[in-house]
Amino acid sequence: MVTCQAESICQSSSQLTLLSGAGNTLRRLAIDIWEKSKRSAVMARIRSKDTKPEMVVRTLVFSMGFRYRLHNPNLPGKPDLAFTRKKKAIFVHGCFWHLHEGCKISKLPKSNEGYWHPKLEKNRARDLSNQAKLHELGWDYLVIWECEIKNLDDLKEIILRFLT
Ligand SMILES: [Zn+2]
Repeated sequence: MVTCQAESICQSSSQLTLLSGAGNTLRRLAIDIWEKSKRSAVMARIRSKDTKPEMVVRTLVFSMGFRYRLHNPNLPGKPDLAFTRKKKAIFVHGCFWHLHEGCKISKLPKSNEGYWHPKLEKNRARDLSNQAKLHELGWDYLVIWECEIKNLDDLKEIILRFLT
């Protein structure tokens, strides 16, 4: 679906470029439109609540016999999983969006660094502030990074240690 969207955007973009003829400004404009639309299509896909790493963690935690509340809006940062009686929360973070330090996945494309860096820094600052607020409320939290999800045995161990 996303591919189709991108293709249609791409088509209209090349039409725009043709229309612009010799006008360099218009051509640049067309390219900019395409980039923005493509960006938001990609962002919408990645930002959706049930991203894959989160589903993996949810399924795993559920299969371990724990029950949780999803995205509780009353808690700072709406943790992906909240264990109310234990006062514990799990965040599942995409490495790119949450700027996982030193992680390969979170590496910024050089060409767009100026565009992404302030956005991602903001995400990171917001994460840290939410986590501090959770602590103030007497909650413990665990951050599971997208890149840690490959090894489910290790992950299970980490979750078990956190919740028990
Ligand atoms: Zn990572």
